[in-house]
Order: sequence, then structure tokens, then C-alpha cells
Amino acid sequence: MITLKEALAMSKDELNKFKDELQTKIEANKDLNAYIDVNTFGEGVPVAIKDNIQVKEWSVTSASKILQGYIAPYNATVIEKLLAAGLSPFGRTNMDEFAMGSTTETSCYGKTLNPVNPEHVPGGSSGGSAAAVGAGLAIAALGSDTGGSIRQPAAYCGIVGMKPTYGRVSRYGLGAYASSLDQIGPMTQNVEDAAILYDIISGSDVKDSTNAMRDDKVSDNLNPERKLTIAILPKYIENASDDVKEAYSKAVEALKAQGHTIVEKEMMDAKYDISAYYVTATAEATTNLGRYDGIRYGNRVEGANLEETYYKTRSEGFGDEVKRRILLGNFVLSSGYYEAYYVKAQKTRHLIKEEYAKIFNDVDLILSPVAPNVAPKFGNLQIRWRCILSDIYTISVNLAGLPALSLPIMKNAAGMPVGLQLIANAYEEQTLFDGAMSLEKEIAYK
Ligand code: GLN
Repeated sequence: MITLKEALAMSKDELNKFKDELQTKIEANKDLNAYIDVNTFGEGVPVAIKDNIQVKEWSVTSASKILQGYIAPYNATVIEKLLAAGLSPFGRTNMDEFAMGSTTETSCYGKTLNPVNPEHVPGGSSGGSAAAVGAGLAIAALGSDTGGSIRQPAAYCGIVGMKPTYGRVSRYGLGAYASSLDQIGPMTQNVEDAAILYDIISGSDVKDSTNAMRDDKVSDNLNPERKLTIAILPKYIENASDDVKEAYSKAVEALKAQGHTIVEKEMMDAKYDISAYYVTATAEATTNLGRYDGIRYGNRVEGANLEETYYKTRSEGFGDEVKRRILLGNFVLSSGYYEAYYVKAQKTRHLIKEEYAKIFNDVDLILSPVAPNVAPKFGNLQIRWRCILSDIYTISVNLAGLPALSLPIMKNAAGMPVGLQLIANAYEEQTLFDGAMSLEKEIAYK
């Protein structure tokens, strides 16, 4: 598959020919279920789009029954930016319903398969985007990351996935899951492409009140020769699988070989991250999903009166996982429990932020696992607690609003990819990409 950098240098004729071939290839790999559908009318370099990002006049459904038939009335800001840079949306990719999940099994369109081995999950919630890039069915894709949904499927499918600093990329036109955590980001074949796509989609936007209003770019200044101080977390990785530990040691050696300074640091027990995240995310999700009432958007199931219409629409439109989270979110926000759960989660979030701030006082980057294991086989994460725990290494990054990039390090004995992430301080995307590029170079995964 050609890279994004190469595609951007292609002539119109070359691009059109390439798009025809791409469509044939997508058709031949329909079983993967990476794409929900493919729309080829754009003129520019084709990019796959997660089904929670609005493209004007396209269907956009967050892989939910409740949004069947809904057509986006406007472009998300990231889509406007793609178009302005000569790229064009090309196909909607599969995902967990409303981005809730870690396996892409909760989609109303059925599950997506891992292109490396179809018996394994592709990860989630941006599993369709990861599978598309991993299988050579997309040059690059956009995903969204609320608690790891870009980085974890990227790691499971052997590609690069990057979550920007909160506020770097406009959320205007992104189907909200948990607004204080959500960020759109690039999913690509290599680090340089991720930097290029990040530059294209990031920047100030008055339509998103949480936007950082900063326009600094990274891809023209990439410098893998820069020597950095990188923290490793020996205690933090104790519960990871042997595969992940092996990848971790490999990455540490590679970083040393590249001349970086490695220092040991400690992080507070990640089990608190999980609680703080699931309280915060479900509380925000409950509020955000309140708008899907059958009156304004998508599917309606008529009842005898307005209340019954709401009730029937939501009962039939939302899947089980989404309903569970709406229940949990309402519970933690209800009077009497608000202080005990929601307020406590916000305090924990603050502690996590401070914890990172302390580490970043004297390091440039942190090396961390993305998930405790390689992509599990289907059915393995249906034990809910195990599924929730698989997020343990990604969610603190969202709670702290930091940028992080996941890249493939090695394959295990069964041939499944193992990815790791680098985490940077807020707005230090340049440092993140520089460090990731030097690690990528030394590791030479492909
Ligand atoms: N797996 C996490 C969740 O289900 C993260 C999802 C995401 O980042 N969108 O909430």
C-alpha cells in the first residue's frame, strides 16, 4: 500500500486509477467488515472515516440502530480540513456502537475481523479504521479516542494510531461519547504519515468551545535524531503479559540504541484510573445520548404518546452495552450518589493529572504498554470485567488530556502484533512524533 506522503504527491490520473484498484480490493475483502460502506465521489486522496464523524450528505450512524437513516447536514471540521488539504473522505468504517467498547463487537453492522488473524478481535472502538489500514484497504484513516479507541486497535492490528492533546483537534461534527475525553486522531501505516494527517486535521476552530486555538504544526520539523529523556515504568507493567513485557524490553533497548536517556519512574496504581474513567465517561455519555429521542434524529418507533415514543425508540434503538452505560451514568449523577461517585472521580482525575505532571517535570516522554495483551480471540473479552480491565493502560492519558502515539514493536510467537505507546506532555506533539520516529526507525517492524 502506498503511504499518505506518496499519495499526496500523485497526479489526479494516478489517484483515480489507484481508487479503482482500492475499491476492487475492498470488495474482495468484504468478509473483514472493516467498511460499513464506501463512497467514492471525492476528488482527493482517499481517507477512511470512522462512522461517528459527519460527512455532509453521507449517512452517519455511530454503528447504532437508533441513527439508521440519519444523513449528516454538515461536515465535521476535520472533514473540512481534509478537503482543504486535497484529501477526501472515502468510506465509513465500522466501530463499537457510540464508541463504547474495545473489540468492535457491539456494532449494529456486526463485528469487524482482525486482518492479521480473523479469529482475533481488531480492537475497538475504532476497529474498522484499524482493520482497513492494517489490511491495506486504506492509505490512512480517522478514528476517535475517548479511552484508547485509536491506540488500542492500532496496536492490535499492527499500525500507528495517535491521540492528540485534548483540544488540539476540533470535535465539531464528532458524535459525542464523553466530551471531556474525546479526541479525533490519525490511524496510519507509519509515524510520518500520522504526523502529516495530524497537521491536516488539527488547529483552531471557533465551532468547538474546548478547542485550544493553536495552529503549530509538526511534520515539516520531524527530527528523529533529537536526544530525549524517556521514562519507563517497571512497576506499572508488572501485570502485562509476557509478550508485552518482551516488547517493552525491546523498545527500551531500541531507545537506548538511538541515544535517548532512560529513567525509571513510578505511577500510581492504574486500578483507580479505571474507576475514574468509567464514572466520568458514563456520566457524560448519559447526557450526550439524551438527544437521541426519535424526534430529532434517525430512527423513530411510534408509541401511543410522546413518552411512549421516547421509550420505544430508545429501547429498540440502543444496544445492550449502550444501555448499560446510560444506566450507570444516570446512577453516578443521581442525587445522593453524585458526591460519592462523580465528584470522587473528578478528584481522582485531578490526582492522575498531577501524577503525570510530576513525571514530566524531568522527562520528555513516557513509554507504556497500550493493552495488557495482544488482540484476544473473539468471545474472550465477553467477560465484562476483563474487557474493562483491558483499557487499563490507555485511559489515564485521556483523563489527563495528553497526547500519545501507539506503534507496532514486534509480533508474538503466534504472529499477533504487539504495540506500545509513547506519551508526551500536553501540546508536546513535536516531541512525541520525534521520539516515535526514532523508535520506529530502530525497531524496523516491517
Ligand atoms: N474501551 C473504552 C470504552 O469502552 C474506550 C472507548 C473509546 O476510546 N471510545 O469506553
